[in-house]
Amino acid sequence: MPVKPETRPSFCLDHACVRAWLTERDPAVLEDLWAEADRVRQAHVGDAVHLRGLIEVSSHCIRHCLYCGLRAPSEGLERYRMTADEILACAQEAVALGYGSVVLQGGEDPGLTRDGVADIVRALKRDTPLAVTLSLGERDDEDLLAWRKAGADRYLLRFETSDPILYRRIHPNRSGVLSDRFAQLRRMRRMGYEIGSGVMVGIPGQTWDALADDILRFRELDLDMIGIGPFLPSPRTPLGDSHADAFLAEPEDQVPNDELTTLKAVALTRLACPDANIPSTTALATLDRERGRELGLMRGANVVMPNVTPLRYRIHYEIYPGKACLNETAVACQGCLAGRIQALGRTVGTGPGGRNQTHCKDLTSCDFHH
Ligand code: SAH
Repeated sequence: MPVKPETRPSFCLDHACVRAWLTERDPAVLEDLWAEADRVRQAHVGDAVHLRGLIEVSSHCIRHCLYCGLRAPSEGLERYRMTADEILACAQEAVALGYGSVVLQGGEDPGLTRDGVADIVRALKRDTPLAVTLSLGERDDEDLLAWRKAGADRYLLRFETSDPILYRRIHPNRSGVLSDRFAQLRRMRRMGYEIGSGVMVGIPGQTWDALADDILRFRELDLDMIGIGPFLPSPRTPLGDSHADAFLAEPEDQVPNDELTTLKAVALTRLACPDANIPSTTALATLDRERGRELGLMRGANVVMPNVTPLRYRIHYEIYPGKACLNETAVACQGCLAGRIQALGRTVGTGPGGRNQTHCKDLTSCDFHH
């Protein structure tokens, strides 16, 4: 039976409406959401898909996050830290492949020192035209300021979940230091960084209400970049072992870590934040190797982050197992992605691909319905 229009959730994007879309299961009704997300994406950020070269600079980590395979207590993992020269060589490869930016991501690693990272950023800005994004976890303001002064343009720090109790459970404080990722995001914005954040979908204990709040929080923070991927259990972690069921919410409340829910979250995020840069994440591609990347791009995303980490290191950066494209060289990835992007009728973006705020800078006057 066709669904009556008045039973469909609207795009008003208050909490109830976002939650209703997240729990919607009727494919015919969801077509409206996909179409609206794609339309808003096209109207606000266009058809270009920006490629960011991801360099996984270190697998050392001092944190004990319950979800992440790189957590300090993980054993049997070979830990590495790339040298400055290795990082610069990767960045040159990204330039050669036509990428406009690189992301230096790593565990929270004190071995990545303030001066060491600043020197690398300075060299990147001196020798390449790349926009430089850092994603090195929770760092103090002196580090963040030094890196910004060295020329770093952007910083990615997912808040993982807006539910404070769940966050505290899955992301223990470092001894004596309260983890407040929202505060760090605000401070980085004041330092002049473009700021990115995001969440995992389907963390054990994550409820529909919490995921709806996450999306509303993206809008409130006026984020420049937003990464959303499914939670993928790692057997090296407490959330990936056979006892993880104890963390789950009640069945009717628990968000599943599946592709459909992730795509709904991506689409709603595009509606809530029309001009943000939103990647179709590797975690989504890992869940659905055939179509994950494309479906993300068709349902709101406009960025992909191909891995340019040397293969010999990449296999050790095991946040979760079975990562998509793990053995693809940077060149192969570039060719594969360019083909997939063109097959969607989209184009490969050129230049740094920063946030374009000509539309909707003032959220109160932003109308994504028209
Ligand atoms: N140390 C940095 C970078 C972490 S890796 C930081 O903490 O910010 C980047 C992202 O990978 C994390 O923010 C998290 O959202 C995601 N991630 C970690 N473990 C994951 C898992 N098991 N499944 C899916 N995504 C995961």
